[in-house]
Amino acid sequence: MQVFKFGGASVKNAENIKNAASIISKYKSSELLVVVSAINKTTDRLQEVVNNYTKGQGDPFLALDVVKQEHNQILCELFEDRQAPVFDDIANCFVEIEWILEEEPLDSYDYLYDQIVSVGELLSSKILAAHCNQIGIPTKWEDARDYISTDNTYREAVVDWELTEAKIRREFPLILDEYVVITQGFIGSTSENFTTTLGREGSDYSAAIFAACLNAEGITIWKDVPGVLNADPKWFEKTELIPELSYTDAIELTYYGATVIHPKTIKPLQNKKITLNVRSFLQPEQPGTQIRTTNQTLPVPSFIFKINQVLINIQPRDFSFIVEDNLSHIFNLCHLHRIKINMMHNSAISFSVSIDDTGENVDMLLEDLEKRYKVNYEKGLELITIRYYNQETIDRVLVNKKIIRELKDSYTCQMLVKELNE
Ligand code: ASP
Ligand code: MG
Repeated sequence: MQVFKFGGASVKNAENIKNAASIISKYKSSELLVVVSAINKTTDRLQEVVNNYTKGQGDPFLALDVVKQEHNQILCELFEDRQAPVFDDIANCFVEIEWILEEEPLDSYDYLYDQIVSVGELLSSKILAAHCNQIGIPTKWEDARDYISTDNTYREAVVDWELTEAKIRREFPLILDEYVVITQGFIGSTSENFTTTLGREGSDYSAAIFAACLNAEGITIWKDVPGVLNADPKWFEKTELIPELSYTDAIELTYYGATVIHPKTIKPLQNKKITLNVRSFLQPEQPGTQIRTTNQTLPVPSFIFKINQVLINIQPRDFSFIVEDNLSHIFNLCHLHRIKINMMHNSAISFSVSIDDTGENVDMLLEDLEKRYKVNYEKGLELITIRYYNQETIDRVLVNKKIIRELKDSYTCQMLVKELNE
């Protein structure tokens, strides 16, 4: 059996949804489970609804209208019959959100976020499933929340693998005998049936969970790039496709910030030796990249760029050493403010971290750190990671840049750099 994952771009309009369905149709004779993300910008737009609702920044109903209109337009283009049940199905999803918006926002932000933002994936999966059925692919829509069990860490829920595996194994194989199953990425539910989400861009991870639990033969992530490239085309004019990649290299690349696959995706697949294909939905006949057990190292060095970095330097106020006690306090604060450390460095009397400048939570971290340490920070930096580096690749990325911090091991070089003014 195979698992396919279609991301937001692959279902962003009626034409792309038709294209996704035609890819599904080619594989429909084998057992196939399809995991889908929310349509293009829907997650961001629903986040705006939540912000307007909880923080009073604007009218949440107006923000919701944008999402409604986008989905309605797609519906009208895909379904000629205005009486088709999918119209009601989609309308009901929006009513669920409106019910929430009519109440006072008394629950926590993270909880409300998950209840509202999760609807994006319900919408896209319902539309794709209805379209597949309409063109004659026997398709069954399944609610991922009935299978993916999590704790109640809203917005970053932790999967209960044992329970999830038991549920998936009990139900899915039978359904897959008869139907192509379409379900949602990104979402799960607590033991009390409250909806949770698995972290931004978490649909890849959902697909990996289903694949691992079902011992799938393979999983394919359909993207708008030809596969895993050695750099994001946003940064390099010429990029190279990597045809084959080891799980370890894939984990390293995504850990350092390659956005092509969600970092949590690979480990469950590696444990079960399931091949992960990254292919282009625009050129579905091309093989793309295969991630699997291989001794092959990357054929070319890979580059990962992360802009908007803040370097925070932390020193005990009394000029004592940085000891384990301080470190655990600092890590705890990062965890509390949901901050991921991209690079860290310590010396006897100071500890420094580079993190994404995500705004409010960084300010809160700085405030908390300043209560106990002498803190200084520098914003607007860029973190460059090169996997399988050499001097030439380093020189290539350092044009007009000054190194602030550098870390190297045998395979990976990380440099925190600052743009030099001409
Ligand atoms: N729709 C969610 C997001 O944009 C999950 C995903 O796309 O993987 O974060
Ligand atoms: Mg996405």
